Amino acid sequence: MIDLLVAGGGPAGLATAILGARAGLEVVVVERRHGPVDKACGEGLMPHAVELLRGLGVDAPGKPFHGITYLDGRLRVTGLFRGGAGRGVRRTALHAGLLDVAMAAGVRLEHGNAGLVSQDALSVHCSGFRARYLAAADGLHSPIRAALGLARASSGPRRWGIRRHILMTPWSDCVEVYWSDGAEAYVTPVADDCVGVAILTSRKGGFDEHLGAFPALQETVHGQAHGPDRAAGPLRQKVRSRTAGRVMLVGDAAGYVDALTGEGLGIAFGAAELLVDCVTADRPQDYDRRWRRMSRRYRLLTAAVLRASASPALRSRVVPAAAQFPGVFRGVVNLLAE
Ligand SMILES: Cc1cc2nc3c(=O)[nH]c(=O)nc-3n(C[C@H](O)[C@H](O)[C@H](O)COP(=O)(O)OP(=O)(O)OC[C@H]3O[C@@H](n4cnc5c(N)ncnc54)[C@H](O)[C@@H]3O)c2cc1C
Repeated sequence: MIDLLVAGGGPAGLATAILGARAGLEVVVVERRHGPVDKACGEGLMPHAVELLRGLGVDAPGKPFHGITYLDGRLRVTGLFRGGAGRGVRRTALHAGLLDVAMAAGVRLEHGNAGLVSQDALSVHCSGFRARYLAAADGLHSPIRAALGLARASSGPRRWGIRRHILMTPWSDCVEVYWSDGAEAYVTPVADDCVGVAILTSRKGGFDEHLGAFPALQETVHGQAHGPDRAAGPLRQKVRSRTAGRVMLVGDAAGYVDALTGEGLGIAFGAAELLVDCVTADRPQDYDRRWRRMSRRYRLLTAAVLRASASPALRSRVVPAAAQFPGVFRGVVNLLAE
């Protein structure tokens, strides 16, 4: 019997595996794709996520950013980070960095599909392994979450994200968020010659069609698209509990509000720490409560901005209000950054 089986080798699964191996656990990761794995993502690591990544010993190449700028075609306002910088890191670079550290820490990686899960009082069975605990890190649409009955139906508009890399020199050292009537476009510097543009919307359509809603941005991003566009969604995933016996959900599998505030990786890395703590203490029953406490601030702020963005009357006031009260805007940016 191994100590910890991790289903899914994305950032959450690999961070969990690295921390588990460092804590002296025998860890196996089952991942169905061969790395480095790409995915739809704004690729902006907020400063607290950069700190957690550093703690994992991963030094992924990218571009620092120093704050968040909101723009609506007329107004712009920037909230600078008070502490350290964030970092734009391409998913493939992040994945490669995490994989290297995981392998060096002694994590075993198996390629395959994490299938059915069964458990008894002492262990979990999955993918031919018997483990003391299972970390389900199988992403936004987690099959394990669904199979264990831990998913909840979510109400409200369904939103998707679509991302394109564009080969051009970044023109800002902040992440820019452009607001239009029904969508937001995020521009993240990710390399000296590349920016990522992620568009979040509840409307159907391809990247070019959505980009048309942002004329100023459309004019600026004249560079050549690099690699395929990638899409993901629906973003909102509600979860009843993050623990079922010896199984714990981590990363997007544990629930997701929206990509609107650049959250995701920070919560995933923070949760990986909690999960490994609960495994070493043999206290899986503590995980859900600790996860909710750790992620509360980010979830509440993201849900609040999302609610404002869903109301046409409030939505058109978001950037003007941020520009009118730049100190408040900076405060909110820093609550999400720290
Ligand atoms: C458009 C968009 C923009 C975003 N922007 C940001 C941002 O700027 N900053 C930020 O921090 N976050 C952002 N996020 C969120 C971030 O991408 C996620 O929080 C992060 O990828 C979560 O990592 P994960 O490991 O939980 O999931 P994933 O990265 O999805 O990894 C899950 C892994 O599990 C594997 N898997 C799934 N099922 C199985 C199975 N049955 N067997 C084996 N393997 C399996 C998959 O192949 C995958 O490799 C964004 C998300 C979207 C959609």
